[in-house]
Amino acid sequence: MQPMFDRIALIGIGLIGSSIARDIRKLGLAREIVISTRSQHTLTRAEELGLGDRYTTSAAQAVENADLVIVSVPVGASESVAVQMAPALKPGAIVTDVGSTKASVIAQMAPHMPDDVHFIPGHPLAGTEKSGPDAGFSGLFKGRWCIFTPLPETPAEPLARLRAFWEALGSKVDEMDPQHHDKVLAIVSHLPHIIAYNIVGTADDLETVTESEVIKYSASGFRDFTRLAASDPTMWRDVCLHNKDAILEMLARFSEDLASLQRAIRWGEGDKLFELFTRTRAIRRSIVEAGQDVDVPDFGRHALEEKK
Ligand code: NAP
Repeated sequence: MQPMFDRIALIGIGLIGSSIARDIRKLGLAREIVISTRSQHTLTRAEELGLGDRYTTSAAQAVENADLVIVSVPVGASESVAVQMAPALKPGAIVTDVGSTKASVIAQMAPHMPDDVHFIPGHPLAGTEKSGPDAGFSGLFKGRWCIFTPLPETPAEPLARLRAFWEALGSKVDEMDPQHHDKVLAIVSHLPHIIAYNIVGTADDLETVTESEVIKYSASGFRDFTRLAASDPTMWRDVCLHNKDAILEMLARFSEDLASLQRAIRWGEGDKLFELFTRTRAIRRSIVEAGQDVDVPDFGRHALEEKK
């Protein structure tokens, strides 16, 4: 493939940044990849993995003369990264991010972006519970959605270039306004993680069930929650703090529905339970039909089988 960009700067080289780096390299999407991360430790690891062509702990140095800058840091760090790199951005550069919340990232970054730079907020809906440069892999974004929440003044040409980039990584691209993105993600991603953190925490706090029993008998449902609850604490702390309103709104609805479920169990309302469980089963079927999951009980079990 012809390189789409001369120089791509990756600011943040964890799970997401390093997966992007691997795809850029594999697909030949840039003539040069410059990598920047906060710590020398992670930078050295990125270099050992051969993820880029040049390495620096300075975000400002990394973005010099870059045509595309991709920020992949926890959402709470967006503003400080924007402040560091803003004076060094090349006129006409495209700056994008991968943060899981959008209104907050825009509020943190947009005010610092020079007028002659195209800032296009983005969010690839792809990931795992792992973090760091070793966790990334080529192909992570294949078949997954990437959502842009462009600012109204963004011209069509840089938007089309960034779209072509994500499509080259195998993603399907959609656009929506940032507030809507944050509501949708609150229900499809943020709430499930919060519920998982909560249920695993509850099990951990139980006094009548020992920790060894929780681990030994975890096959029965609990295990599936522990995968989500093993997600990166920094990332999820930031998501909770930076999508507060939408998450609180969804949590309020969730609590109401849970109370109704609790009532149905208490009063033995089997029909009500059966109706809900039938409705939710159909949603699972639709997700499989939409190609967003496969109809096999997995959650790591296949990999476990392969390991044996
Ligand atoms: P990660 O593996 O933990 O990597 C985080 C990267 O950000 C590292 O390079 C780290 O640098 C850097 N960083 C951490 N704190 C920083 C700070 N305060 N200032 C500057 N740099 C900092 O994280 P990730 O999973 O790739 O997530 C990155 C972004 O992608 C997040 O905004 C997340 O919301 C979003 N996202 C994640 C997923 C997912 O499933 N993980 C999916 C979609 C989007 P050092 O190691 O050098 O400290």
